[in-house]
Amino acid sequence: MTQDNYNAYQTAQEQFDHVADLINLNQSAREMLREPSREFHFTIPVKMDDGTTKVFKGYRIQHNDARGPSKGGIRFDPNETVDTIRALSMWMTWKCAVVDIPLGGGKGGIVCDPRQLSDAEQERLCRGYVRQLARNIGEVIDVPAPDVMSNAQHMLWMLDEYETIRGGHYPGAITGKPVGMGGSLGRTEATGFGVIYTLREALKTQNIDITKTTASIQGFGNVAEYAARLYSEMGGKIIAISTWDNQDKKAYTYRNLKGINVEELVLIKDKFGTIDKEKAVQMGYEVLDGDAWLEQEVDILLPCALENQITADKFPLINQSVKVICEGANGPTTPDADKLIKERGIYLVPDFLCNAGGVTCSYFEQVQSNMNYFWDKAEVLEKLDSKMTAAFHAVHELAEEKELYMRDAAYVIAIERVANAVKLRGWI
Ligand code: GLU
Repeated sequence: MTQDNYNAYQTAQEQFDHVADLINLNQSAREMLREPSREFHFTIPVKMDDGTTKVFKGYRIQHNDARGPSKGGIRFDPNETVDTIRALSMWMTWKCAVVDIPLGGGKGGIVCDPRQLSDAEQERLCRGYVRQLARNIGEVIDVPAPDVMSNAQHMLWMLDEYETIRGGHYPGAITGKPVGMGGSLGRTEATGFGVIYTLREALKTQNIDITKTTASIQGFGNVAEYAARLYSEMGGKIIAISTWDNQDKKAYTYRNLKGINVEELVLIKDKFGTIDKEKAVQMGYEVLDGDAWLEQEVDILLPCALENQITADKFPLINQSVKVICEGANGPTTPDADKLIKERGIYLVPDFLCNAGGVTCSYFEQVQSNMNYFWDKAEVLEKLDSKMTAAFHAVHELAEEKELYMRDAAYVIAIERVANAVKLRGWI
């Protein structure tokens, strides 16, 4: 199967069914949890700068809110599909449950390419999205946040539209806002840093010294950038970073066998993660094929881009040296490749545990917004680290105790928590 033939929703349901069997989940809980509770599909008419009107497709999908309001990002992606958002909304439910924050799961998306839209067009698109959804989101219903190609400015436009409609200030209705406008310090770093907190703990369990490790990363957006920064700060050496080139419409891997200087590479990338190829060559980077990040002789792989990147076809590319994979992206591994990772005995930190730092910090942002009192960055990051570390060890210990694959162990904890909430509420 090629990368495009995988359906993320099918993957999410397969993973769920597998663990539901493992824990003998009752039939009604299975039926309820294997699909979203609610879906909104709508059109968003936007006046373009040239005077024409373009109609975009928008979605918001609420998978489950038994443990608290639905929570999850809004993606801006020209290749967005309803099934991808369904899968991502499901993964959000498990993500919030595995780190034990009082939130459910949801996800949204707009089929669009923000790289082709002016700022004014993006603002109108954000406001149009909220006008279609205002009755069905909010701090006690469903709380959006940034995701692929959406950012803090988009969130603030959305919040402003929401507050205009509701006639008041509701800073807890959307997270990932700019700092000083209800945002939390550390939110930008949170997902990438969270990935590295779990990596640090994973390496400890494997008796590997992080300062003696090398890594290869896929992606150079928000998650990958901050994961790369913290990993380097902790003494790890990054050999390769693979990222999408929006001009050539393909991915390239940038390699420096002496170790990548992240600060330096950040200076030559645009805000969507595309690296300036010519400047990279001048700076001494080798420019390799997009998949070359998988083939590097490193200890650690950090897939931090999109879903369906490690497929069974590509699995053989993974160097025998790889000992740990931390999934910074949502759903980067297809189920057939997952079996091969398990068989080869590579230690895996699964996506909804590994990248839960973003939503955990969103939860802190809501708490701070509700109190109208904001913590300093060190306090936010300290709380984030302890939440991620505790969640990691709970999963690792269950995996050890029951001899489970790490992904299955994370699912067992998350599904049991959500199934219990659904039962306690008397829904099933
Ligand atoms: N978009 C991020 C995720 O997939 C964060 C979601 C949030 O903060 O609500 O986890």
